[in-house]
Amino acid sequence: MTTVFLRQLNFYDASSVLSALRALVDAMGGMGQFVSPGERVLLKPNLLSAEPPDRCVTTHPEIVRAVARLVLEAGGRPFIADSPGLDRFAHVAAKTGMSDVARELGIPCEELTDPEPLSMAEGSLFHRVEVARQALLADKIINLPKLKTHAQMVLTLGVKNLFGTVVRQRKAEWHYNVGLDRGRFADLHLDIARSLRPALTILDGVEGMEGRGPGNGTPRHFGLLAAATDPLALDAAVAGLLGLATDDVPLLRAAKRRGVLPEHALAGDSPDAFAEAMRDVHIPALDSLHLIPRGLRWMGGSLLASRPRQNRETCIRCGKCVAICPAKAMTLEGDGRIVIDYGRCIRCYCCQEVCPANAIDFSKGLILRALDLLRR
Ligand code: SF4
Ligand code: SF4
Repeated sequence: MTTVFLRQLNFYDASSVLSALRALVDAMGGMGQFVSPGERVLLKPNLLSAEPPDRCVTTHPEIVRAVARLVLEAGGRPFIADSPGLDRFAHVAAKTGMSDVARELGIPCEELTDPEPLSMAEGSLFHRVEVARQALLADKIINLPKLKTHAQMVLTLGVKNLFGTVVRQRKAEWHYNVGLDRGRFADLHLDIARSLRPALTILDGVEGMEGRGPGNGTPRHFGLLAAATDPLALDAAVAGLLGLATDDVPLLRAAKRRGVLPEHALAGDSPDAFAEAMRDVHIPALDSLHLIPRGLRWMGGSLLASRPRQNRETCIRCGKCVAICPAKAMTLEGDGRIVIDYGRCIRCYCCQEVCPANAIDFSKGLILRALDLLRR
């Protein structure tokens, strides 16, 4: 049984964040339980892209600052690191406030690089996955996810944040390798999290995101900090607070199928304290691709599945969607049109995720609309 600790926090002012995080970690036995003097500690925030903290795409810098302080007090040597999908790391670090935190505390802030094979945990379904060398060499990992909805995977929380240790464009390659199969993608996330085994996961859910997450949703106040030693238990607990069942979330469904979903108990502030903030959150509706029989999936790849579309009114022609597309299904024409080869598209939502102008919409194909109707 894993205990997931909850704490209400409504603002990001430095002293409130530090005292709330200290109380949260003290309830778990204090930072000394997780970090020994002299240990190098990777602080792994969600640094998806170069966005300011108030867009709620990335972990708030005050959370990272406070956790770094607690690690320093315990005698550890923290460093902040992540691997954004597309944007230059220096730009991401500056825009998200991480450079300022690092400069003020005199700690490194660096890009995760140099992929090396991860030693896979027993029971893994993937046998060769490479993650950044810094994640493998760190004595401890403290995982600092952001609470966001996710158009492809419903939620991104503790487990998915660790997929960020896969270096840069290799994330898109994994999207391509697993294709349309969300369950397989969830299996990959599970294998990485279970193999990296972070010492501690602390979720920034003070202000999070609903709707078209993880990059183009709407900021939403949740007032939540959550912490646990097992990121999967934390994810299950937070999904429960949001009113989602195990089967609603591909990651939790995969964990249940594999018999690795941990039992969890809640401690700290009562879940009732979050009931109002968690009500009627805009959760992305997944299409029913998984209901199309395997033999007919080729049709899902052409006319019948959800299809990304460029909104030419809002598109700023930056080309990021074309650059990230793991299937090489997009081209930017001279007149500004994005042409998409739906036969190649794997519906990974990467183009929507990286679009800085929220100019990629998904529209449902025939079979999916019919299946959705049947499910109502
Ligand atoms: S077009 Fe978009 S959804 Fe399709 S494969 Fe490319 S990035 Fe993924
Ligand atoms: S990422 Fe968005 S804004 Fe940039 S070219 Fe693609 S659709 Fe247009």
